[in-house]
Amino acid sequence: MLDYLNLTKILVEIGILWFAFYVILIFARGTRGVHVLKGIILIVLFFIVTQKLGLHTINWIFTKLFAISVIAVLVIFQPELRRGLASIGQRGWSGIFFKESEVIKEIVKAAEAFSRRKIGALIAIERDGRLGNYVESGIETDAKVSAELLITLFTPNAPLHDGGIVISGDRVVGAGCLFPLTQNPKVSRALGTRHRAAIGLSEETDAAVIVISEETGGISIATGGKMTHDMDKDALERTLSNLFKPEKKKKGFFVLSR
Ligand code: ATP
Ligand code: MG
Repeated sequence: MLDYLNLTKILVEIGILWFAFYVILIFARGTRGVHVLKGIILIVLFFIVTQKLGLHTINWIFTKLFAISVIAVLVIFQPELRRGLASIGQRGWSGIFFKESEVIKEIVKAAEAFSRRKIGALIAIERDGRLGNYVESGIETDAKVSAELLITLFTPNAPLHDGGIVISGDRVVGAGCLFPLTQNPKVSRALGTRHRAAIGLSEETDAAVIVISEETGGISIATGGKMTHDMDKDALERTLSNLFKPEKKKKGFFVLSR
């Protein structure tokens, strides 16, 4: 029979593992492998429980499943592991802890400049769901967001001005990226491909996607498949602040109430 101390130990172990898996899930969220990861976590938990309870046959099965799942993790999450390790190596933890308000200010400043000068721009801002797949369609970058950088990227004829950029946290992680065009028949025919790509990406992910029209200088933002047009500087700043409120902050290591 299990005594009280053993039971406490099991619960503490499960608690620690639960926390570790939770943090891993937060980092893996939005990737295609997240469902696989959830399955593997279940296997590991069953494995520990059956081992502690002395259910040897079931435990044997889970030992085999566990061994397979370790290999599965390495194969399935190879792109994420590579990217994660590379980004920690390159920028330490500063890319995880940052001030949203400063990033928003820089984006709004750039949007204003694009609008004034009628420079077409397409900016996707990552939220919960990772945009890594879309970054891979363009050029991977790693630079701190600043209005000057964004303006440089979208300057007509600059090598990366075509397509969209992806912002993750306080970094521009991709430029010249292709986003999926919306297939929604209700979207106005007057909208060209830049706007359709913004709506399309916002349908497929939870990203906020900003477009500045080359033709009109109008600023629009797409979220959840819907686009709001003719935004001025204040409206854009307000909308972004609401989407990225610190209490809704998605990047904090210890903000676990996602
Ligand atoms: P604008 O009002 O600025 O003219 P628009 O919605 O009318 O925008 P187009 O004139 O078709 O769109 O804009 C073409 C530009 O949009 C391309 O040069 C390219 O930079 C960008 N673009 C087009 N399709 C995509 C896509 N799938 N993903 C990312 N960017 C795209
Ligand atoms: Mg056009």
